[in-house]
Amino acid sequence: MQWGLIGASTIASEHVIDAIRSQEANDIKWVMSSDPQRGAAYAQQHGIAQSTSDLDTILNDPEIDAVYISTTNEKHYPQAMAAIAKGKHVLCEKPLAMSLAEAAEMVSAANEAGLVFATNHHLRNAGSHLAIRDLIQSGRLGKVLSVRIFHAVHLPEHLQGWRINNAAAGGGVIPDIVVHDADTVRFYLGEDPLEVVAMADTSGMGQGVEDSVMSVWTMPSGTMVQTHESFTHPFAGSGIEVHGTEASIMARDVMTQRPVGEIFLNDKDGRQTVPFSDHGLYVRSLSLFTQAVTGAGQPSADGVDGVKSLAVALAVREAATSGQAVGVDYGGL
Ligand code: NDP
Repeated sequence: MQWGLIGASTIASEHVIDAIRSQEANDIKWVMSSDPQRGAAYAQQHGIAQSTSDLDTILNDPEIDAVYISTTNEKHYPQAMAAIAKGKHVLCEKPLAMSLAEAAEMVSAANEAGLVFATNHHLRNAGSHLAIRDLIQSGRLGKVLSVRIFHAVHLPEHLQGWRINNAAAGGGVIPDIVVHDADTVRFYLGEDPLEVVAMADTSGMGQGVEDSVMSVWTMPSGTMVQTHESFTHPFAGSGIEVHGTEASIMARDVMTQRPVGEIFLNDKDGRQTVPFSDHGLYVRSLSLFTQAVTGAGQPSADGVDGVKSLAVALAVREAATSGQAVGVDYGGL
């Protein structure tokens, strides 16, 4: 399977190029950058055969089976629509688009064309989150009363570009991190948030976009969800807790791109450590995607998952802006 990278991005460089190449018979033929010189340097650095600044050059190449879109967020929609029109399978970064309507259109266009479309929500591929999801789904926790998410991190200096100062490119912590937390909660509980309240702030990094947000979500089952996302917390660490009538899970340092962290389960007998697999998150995401392209199974997070995580993030932003409780609009999905 031959790939084209749309976007000479950090995430491709740090995780996804290796994950693609870890799949048998998969390689990367093209990278597209808006800057031809940067694209050529990126291609050379990563051993990619060719670079271009013209999207159609990649999409018109009959050897290209799939594209990975990791440009800034406002470009995902036009680039994905163009790729789908040319019959390419799409692995798209989150948030899928700037609006729910655009995201939904991308997903239905891929469906109509019979193409695989996936959202690169990495967390649900982590051994830690798979283990927690399994404990919840097995009933080990009893009725799930609440989920608390600690996802206030420190945005590394090399990523402090458009994310902290460019609303038009999809900057802000809400499109960046709330989408991941929404996907994780949906993955754990198998249901979609109903209504949210939120407050957002700029606490030292954001320029014209929020860099911190706290929100509370209601779920159809009655579970309450509390989240904290930020770019400005150097020492907070990340984590997630799930509290049920029979047991509680406390997981630390698991809201991350690496297969690390620890999970404890507390119940009437005390505290025990929960073991989990340390496989690569992006390797699993790519493995399921490439299998889906061959007709076997589904990607770990499909297009509808990406639309729904975006819907929650949009509701959180509207709630933070308006000061009102906001019902999550999934556009009929
Ligand atoms: P980057 O800022 O690294 O890349 C985004 C775009 O910025 C690139 O496509 C590139 O444009 C341009 N760019 C990158 N580096 C430079 C540079 N040194 N000088 C000038 N321009 C540059 O963003 P990320 O890789 O952090 O994020 C890309 C996408 O991936 C976003 O949608 C983000 O939300 C998502 N993401 C997802 C993660 C996940 O785990 N699922 C983790 C991190 C990001 P061009 O291609 O035109 O050269």
